[in-house]
Amino acid sequence: ARRWSLHGMTALVTGGSRGIGRAVVEELAALGAAVHTCSRKEDELRERVKEWEAKGFRVTGSVCDVSVREQRERLLSDVAERFGDKLNILVNNVGTNFTKPTTEYSADDYSFLMATNLESAYHLCQLAHPLLKASGSGSIVLISSVCGVVAVCTGSVYAMTKGAMNQLAKNLACEWAKDNIRTNSVAPWYIKTPLVEGDLSRKDYVDNILCRTPQRRVGEPEEISSLVAFLSMPCSSYITGQTISVDGGMTVHGLY
Ligand code: NDP
Repeated sequence: ARRWSLHGMTALVTGGSRGIGRAVVEELAALGAAVHTCSRKEDELRERVKEWEAKGFRVTGSVCDVSVREQRERLLSDVAERFGDKLNILVNNVGTNFTKPTTEYSADDYSFLMATNLESAYHLCQLAHPLLKASGSGSIVLISSVCGVVAVCTGSVYAMTKGAMNQLAKNLACEWAKDNIRTNSVAPWYIKTPLVEGDLSRKDYVDNILCRTPQRRVGEPEEISSLVAFLSMPCSSYITGQTISVDGGMTVHGLY
């Protein structure tokens, strides 16, 4: 049924060449959407787009560093051109991290993480607003983290960017409901991607993660992309402003 489909829809997914973003691009395209994505490394992006074309997916990509304002503006003008000034789905997926004790973050560290994770998402929502509104039915999904829901050992700056994204979903949900745009936040716990390869190769660290996780495993990128797709379909039309954790139960796990 149309309620469970993305046929005829258009999407922008940031950071689609690896990890969660890659899974989101593939999920949305497999469900019928035309997708545009971006990343910084041109070679890897070109290779991905070739693979997607071979699978019959309608995916294009352009090089863009979403931490840079002018590049975000260029990205949205590419998207407007490709999709005729309309967009149904915006997935703000790009985010990165490096963990330090709070007393050791430099001013540059702070600016870099804020620009990459939070300012990019905020400004891309602003830039995409006219296109999302023009489509008649828009969905914004912010890829946040459980680190913006509970305090864990991944560093305070990262946690602040993710907590702010969860709040942004609430504000935009209320402000843009009149434009028929929904906004939700998806908050993963550990997911097997290149970003966390280092963490997941340390056995003592993984043991610590697993004993806090009722399902006793980390997640797969496809376990995030399925929720992103659901939140972009007509069948989720009354869900907005929510932060949904995808975490094997981690955020509800107290002393047990
Ligand atoms: P990866 O580092 O594995 O992939 C990141 C993707 O984004 C790549 O395609 C990368 O390509 C692109 N990217 C990174 N920086 C930029 C930039 N400045 N401009 C444009 N593209 C960029 O990350 P994950 O898939 O693990 O993470 C995706 C999101 O999920 C992030 O927001 C992260 O915080 C969140 N998350 C991840 C968790 C996990 O355990 N993996 C847990 C909770 C949340 P390139 O380097 O070529 O630019």
